Amino acid sequence: MAASRPVFLLVDDDVRLNNHLPTRWCCACPLHLAFFNQFAHRDMSREAIFQAMRVKDEQAKTIRDAWFESGDSSLMVLAKVIRQAIDEVDPHLRCGKRLEGGRHLLLTELFARELGGKTKPMVRLAGAMYLHSGYSGFAQVMASLAMQRNLMADDIEYLCEADSFPQTLYSTSCKTLRECVAGSILAAKVDVPYTWIPNTTE
Ligand SMILES: [Zn+2]
Repeated sequence: MAASRPVFLLVDDDVRLNNHLPTRWCCACPLHLAFFNQFAHRDMSREAIFQAMRVKDEQAKTIRDAWFESGDSSLMVLAKVIRQAIDEVDPHLRCGKRLEGGRHLLLTELFARELGGKTKPMVRLAGAMYLHSGYSGFAQVMASLAMQRNLMADDIEYLCEADSFPQTLYSTSCKTLRECVAGSILAAKVDVPYTWIPNTTE
């Protein structure tokens, strides 16, 4: 991908280990189980881990914490591998991360710094107006953007998510797209409106 010389790369927000319903405690593949056991200095089967996490006691909390922390740690390994692959082609090629909400908000910052390598880190805030019809949700999206931006560091370059086209499944009107770009600049101080060429047939 890097060899095709894009202007920059962005890792999708779906590259995460939570918030992928109906799975709740992903990922529990053999590699992640081995990673957890090494991380937590344990030797537990998948069944034993999940059985232990369901109990309401301190031990269960310890295992749950270790499960999440080992998952976060595995993502950082992934970020490192991606950056190394980019560096082999071009250490100046920028790579950022699209932000996901919840507890992964702050992890995204670390992930983005790793992905950025020697370049300035880049994060795309979460705030598209997918499937939007009308303006009732505009203030909510802008407030969410401002909250995300204020929780994160100032030395990162921020992009906005007003990128409805060519994602036609989620597309919105040109007017809403442009207002989302303008709102992102005002509400969240984004540096670069990250937009595809708008769908001019709308
Ligand atoms: Zn896995």
